[in-house]
Amino acid sequence: MRRLLVGLVLACAVWGQQVDFTKQEIETVKITDSLYVLMGGPAQGNVLASVGPDGIFLVDSMYAQMHDKLLAAIRKLSAAPIRYIVNTHLHGDHTAGNEAFAKLGAVVISHDNMRQRMLDAKVDGLPKQTYGSTLTLQFNGDEIYIYHPAPAHTDGDSIIFFKKANVMHVGDVPASLRYPNIGVAEGGTVDGMIAAGNQVMQIANAQTKIIPGHLGPVIGFDEIRQQLTMFAAIRERVMTSIREGKTLEQVVAAKITKDFDPGRLGGAITPDRFVTLVYTDLSRKK
Ligand SMILES: [Zn+2]
Ligand SMILES: [Zn+2]
Repeated sequence: MRRLLVGLVLACAVWGQQVDFTKQEIETVKITDSLYVLMGGPAQGNVLASVGPDGIFLVDSMYAQMHDKLLAAIRKLSAAPIRYIVNTHLHGDHTAGNEAFAKLGAVVISHDNMRQRMLDAKVDGLPKQTYGSTLTLQFNGDEIYIYHPAPAHTDGDSIIFFKKANVMHVGDVPASLRYPNIGVAEGGTVDGMIAAGNQVMQIANAQTKIIPGHLGPVIGFDEIRQQLTMFAAIRERVMTSIREGKTLEQVVAAKITKDFDPGRLGGAITPDRFVTLVYTDLSRKK
C-alpha cells in the first residue's frame, strides 16, 4: 500500500511523457515589480516568487532535479534569504524541490491534508506549517491570502492570492491551456475541480493576473470559463454513458472530447487519460 502511494505521488505529473531534466531551462517572467514566474517547461509546476525587503517567498518548488537551475534563476533576482514556500498541492512537479529549499532555511507551508498525504507516503520535504481553511501572511508589503478549495485537484489544494498585487497562483485547478489532471487517488474530484474554478472567479476579478500550475504563465477569466464549459460538457457525456452501462473502454473509444481538443493537447494529460479520470471519479459516486 505504501509503495503504491509513493508511486502515485511521483508519477502523477509525468503521465505520457518522460522529462529530460538536462534539457529544461528556467525562463523568468516579470509580473510586477516584486513578483516573477519561473517556468521550467510544461512538465514543471510554475513557481511564483515574491522578491522584496522581507526576503523571498515562493509558491511551489518544481522537481528536485530542477533545484540548481531554479536557485540560480532566483539568485539572479535577489541574494535575500528564501523564507517561505507555499505548495499548491502534493504532486512532485510542485513539491519535490521542497527539501533542498528547506535546507537553505525556507519554511514549507501547506494545507493539513497535503502534509498528511506526504507523511503517509514517506516523501521528503514535509511542510513545517499547515492550515485548515485559510491562512494570511503579510510579506513584502502585500497581504498573501491562502485558501483551500473543497477537494478539487487533490484534497489538499491551496490557492495563493497576493491581494495588493492582484496576482493569484491557482496550481492545477482548471485553465483551458490543456486537459487537467485530476488526482482521483488523492481525493480529487470532477465536481471539486468545477467548484474550485468557480471559486477562483468569485475571489479574483477580471483584472487579476492568474498564474496556472503549468503553461501560461498568465491567464484570466476567459481561460477558466472555457475550461468550466468543457468540464460541464464532458461530465455530462461521461455521466450519460455510465448510466447507459457503457464501460470505460467504450467511453474512451468514443472520443467524446473531440470538439474540445484544439488548444488542449500541450500537457501531459491526453484526451483518453482525461476521459479515464472523469469516468473513474464519476463511476464511484454513481
Ligand atoms: Zn502539476
Ligand atoms: Zn498536480
